[in-house]
Amino acid sequence: MSQQTTIRKLAALVNTPVEKLLEQLSEAGMAFSDPDQVVTSTEKVKLLGFLRRTHGKADKPAEDAVAPKKITLNRTRKQEITVGGGKNRATVDVVVRKKVTLVKPSEATESAGSAAAPVDDEQAEILRKLEESRQRNLSEQQRLAEEDKRRADEAAERKRQADAEAERLRQEAELAAVVPPPGEDAAARKPVGHGHGHPKPAPPRSEERGTGPKHKGNRGSHVMVAGVEDDESTARFAGQLHLSASERARRSSTRGKPKSRRHVEQSRSGAGPHGFERPTAPVVREVAIGEAITVADLAQKLALKGGDVVKALFKMGVMATITQSIDHDTAVLVVEELGHKAVAAESDDAESELLAHAEQVQGDRVARPPVVTIMGHVDHGKTSLLDYIRRTKVASGEAGGITQHIGAYHVETDKGVISFLDTPGHAAFTSMRARGAKLTDIVILVVAADDGVMPQTIEAIQHAKAAKVPLIVAINKVDKSGADPERIKNELLAHDIVAESFGGDTQMVELSAKTGQGVDELLDAISLQAEVLELRAVATGRATGTVIESSLDKGRGPVATVLVQQGLLEKGDYLVCGVQYGRVRALFDETGSQVPAAGPSIPVQVLGLSGVPDAGDDFVVVEDERLAKEVAQQREAKRREMRLVQAAGNRMEDIMAQMGQGEAQQQLNLVIKADVQGSVEALRQALTALSNEQIRINVIVSGVGGITESDANAAATAKATIIGFNVRADASARRVIENSGLDLRYFSIIYDVIDQVKQVASGLLGVEIREEIIGIAEVRDVFRSSKFGAVAGSMVIEGVVKRSKPIRVLRDNTVVFEGELESLRRFKENVDEVRNGTECGIAVKAYNDVQPGDQIECFERIEVQRTL
Ligand code: GDP
Repeated sequence: MSQQTTIRKLAALVNTPVEKLLEQLSEAGMAFSDPDQVVTSTEKVKLLGFLRRTHGKADKPAEDAVAPKKITLNRTRKQEITVGGGKNRATVDVVVRKKVTLVKPSEATESAGSAAAPVDDEQAEILRKLEESRQRNLSEQQRLAEEDKRRADEAAERKRQADAEAERLRQEAELAAVVPPPGEDAAARKPVGHGHGHPKPAPPRSEERGTGPKHKGNRGSHVMVAGVEDDESTARFAGQLHLSASERARRSSTRGKPKSRRHVEQSRSGAGPHGFERPTAPVVREVAIGEAITVADLAQKLALKGGDVVKALFKMGVMATITQSIDHDTAVLVVEELGHKAVAAESDDAESELLAHAEQVQGDRVARPPVVTIMGHVDHGKTSLLDYIRRTKVASGEAGGITQHIGAYHVETDKGVISFLDTPGHAAFTSMRARGAKLTDIVILVVAADDGVMPQTIEAIQHAKAAKVPLIVAINKVDKSGADPERIKNELLAHDIVAESFGGDTQMVELSAKTGQGVDELLDAISLQAEVLELRAVATGRATGTVIESSLDKGRGPVATVLVQQGLLEKGDYLVCGVQYGRVRALFDETGSQVPAAGPSIPVQVLGLSGVPDAGDDFVVVEDERLAKEVAQQREAKRREMRLVQAAGNRMEDIMAQMGQGEAQQQLNLVIKADVQGSVEALRQALTALSNEQIRINVIVSGVGGITESDANAAATAKATIIGFNVRADASARRVIENSGLDLRYFSIIYDVIDQVKQVASGLLGVEIREEIIGIAEVRDVFRSSKFGAVAGSMVIEGVVKRSKPIRVLRDNTVVFEGELESLRRFKENVDEVRNGTECGIAVKAYNDVQPGDQIECFERIEVQRTL
């Protein structure tokens, strides 16, 4: 670094040719041969003395020779930084050129150190220049030495600080592992712009950063940034350098290098444009992520702007808006990408609290009534049986014997109470089962004695078997003349349902839902079966159970019929019901009378919920409203997220499905509205089950209540057929339906809906052109006619041969010609058709090769409606 003067330099300085200076030096007794040899200060003084002595010998320096006014030192430092992230990552070379300019010292300073008084002007000038140069060298050397020292000290100090901080952190972390740090402390170390976190060592200064790990993106490009001349410019880059460090650290951190992760946080919490002012605390947030989370919620948890998370997702190739939900895996990735830590959300707090709550329901398990579902083939009398029992057995009290349809009812018999689920049919049973609700203890399989085992009978047997629910067979309509109970028993044998009379274990009761004959026996059989099952439940304490049916009542608000399964449901209880919650305002039984409470296996209508729950939802009574509300809200959020995720998934699946199946598959979109949730579910399942490879049935909207304008609009957008099950369209909906020419159909019987949807779907499926052979004639002889060419004397052996229909000529059952008839004659008379067993003369158009023994097949093309 020191600026030693060589002969060449000195020569330039005193403006004397090198050779001359060498000569003078030699004359002064100093032997120099190389102009690059260094001239020491002593030597310079010696030379000066010589020159003084030999005054007049030295050449006069040029008039204009002046010492340079300034010296500029250039220092160049190269650095490599990485900017951007993901695909946009680029490695940039930053060259920082530092120019140090030394201005000519003042005259006073100059003269202060000058050696001796000048002898004469010329010599004085040389002397002054020499002295000046010496001084300059000296001060520059000193300055540089000082600068080096200062730098070294600074670096050492920084290292010391960083080490101390790291050590402190390590200790703190160790300590924290044992004792959580006091909240105050954490607050005191709170970094600018962040909620909380743990302090980490200061980030390395830009000078030191070059020693850090270098990351080059695969597609990284090197950009030369040159001409940065001052410290300020360098500082301008500090932000980016900083970013690059964070980027590096982020990548390292995702590979699980905690040390590097600090950098990320430093960059986040770095204050001011330089970002290096003081040791700042990094924040690695631990974010609990459930099955799905909205971008907004995630951003909030990370204390970031929603837009930042959207951007990060975008970089990962995920397009999502702030309100959209992302699934667990994507959320974890983006959290890591942003330098934070994702942890799997433990089962929701409120939910586990609820669980603990429910488990508290303890007590003696006592016998409870059986819950019965009636299944069987359509028209075999399920509804009639349910109605008969309800009408005759429900204790109707003072209400005048009027029972209400609330989805279930219970009857009191000599042998105990029995509860019946009031939605006959398999769809309700299976949809409940699909939702994990096991309500039914016993299945009554209704088989009409005059009909026999039918497809839905078999289906019911399968459902009961799958659910491991015992069956009792009700052989119905024994009052009818064609009734043959024994035949039913025999037929059931084929399905492993063996009557007790046949040595099996299935109770079979012959009855008539019309006359009521045998109904009591059926109830006895149920009680007997219940005893065998030893059904028990806790009859006291907070109740839990399942929603059977629900609806929105104009006057009473959301109404849900629930079946209590454990505990005692009482008026005034707080409960969570699916995603709804509330306080039981009133309880009604099937006769419409208010009841104070309902115990196990008893269906009861509940008023006071925040909204309409779904059939199959569970309900739990909780201690206070807070927990009820919390659980309900948490569930709602979860359900909404899942729906969003599913919706996104479905769209994809739809596309895939369509791609896979080409354009052949047609779609039938449906909007289903019904009076009760049970029917909605039943219809949904039954109708979507009609889908096959030719047609797909999509239920785009479904729900409880009348058909509204928004339903109609949804239907119009999707060109959907609207189904109203025991509900009607309001005026505004009707207007939309009319204007859009939508197909609206009202029903009150589920099977009618299924039938009609089949028809609608068939319409969509279009027609198929089928060929039907309508007649065959056998060629007995062939005549030649000048007018028609070959005429086949034939006998119609099957069906009818029509002149206007296309024909084929078959030889040895192989088609040899296809075309049409030129003429069809009978006794020289042209006829339109010839029937079976009749002789005729046939001339085939454009074909003269008909031979005896050939067959002429007459066929027609018919349009056949495709069906499901
Ligand atoms: P579901 O479709 O299984 O619910 O059958 P329904 O209860 O609607 O009954 C279908 C038809 O059978 C109705 O017309 C009933 O009146 C009739 N029905 C039901 N049970 C009996 C019975 O025990 N005897 C006679 N004669 N008719 C019955």
